[in-house]
Amino acid sequence: MFRDLHNLVRGLGERLLPAPATAPLDDTEWRRLRANAAFIGLLPSAETEVLRERVGEFLGRKTFKGIGMQLDPWQRHLIAAYASLPVLHLGIDAYRDWRTVIVYPDTFAPEQEWVDEAGVHHQAVMPQAGEAWERGPVVLSWSDIADDGAVIVHEVTHTLDAGNGDVNGFPPLPRTLPRAEWTDTFSAAYEQLQQEIERGLEPVIDPYAATDPAEFLAVVAEYFFFSPAHLRAEWPAIYRLLAEYFGLQPHRWADEIPTHIRSARD
Ligand SMILES: [Zn+2]
Repeated sequence: MFRDLHNLVRGLGERLLPAPATAPLDDTEWRRLRANAAFIGLLPSAETEVLRERVGEFLGRKTFKGIGMQLDPWQRHLIAAYASLPVLHLGIDAYRDWRTVIVYPDTFAPEQEWVDEAGVHHQAVMPQAGEAWERGPVVLSWSDIADDGAVIVHEVTHTLDAGNGDVNGFPPLPRTLPRAEWTDTFSAAYEQLQQEIERGLEPVIDPYAATDPAEFLAVVAEYFFFSPAHLRAEWPAIYRLLAEYFGLQPHRWADEIPTHIRSARD
């Protein structure tokens, strides 16, 4: 009787105050991850500690699904590390609207196109497993990630953008960030990029960012984290808004932050 009551009370408590799920890496796994993901070595020690925490939270809360490949633990840890970078300060709850990471071995065969619940457009072979689709999954290709981990930051930035319903380059902003300033600054930079491309000039950033405002945000997020000095020099206002949004100052870590993944498996 007592035991049942105890369980009931504990059960209620858990419902009222859900303990955040976490699957922390042990020291060996963490060392291996640091050896594989070059960017971690450039983070200041406070950020490194938060990253380790976020990686555990990410692994505890997200489900990984390899399509046509078996994902090793070190591969899941790497994805978690890159995906944790944008939410170092925002917190893991910024990813609460989705649960699944789908990984293909190679660039997806463009056999299907669909828009997930988050409104993100995908072009890929549609996986058969229905349970992966509760909430817009993040779909990645391992060969692309292995070349450039920034792809992961790009994709998870789309999910942050989707946080207020639309994927339109306008994510839910903290109260301290003026909405009009964000919209004006981003619109002006987006137009500048489109004009540079139209005139045949060398664009400030990857011209893929000019395809639509959501891609613009995802691409500038890549620059923010991995080429912060370039973004800050070319578009200081964009850099400053992103620094405030993400609560981070990557230009203090390094001018350029490596995105490649080493393949030290063991
Ligand atoms: Zn994109």
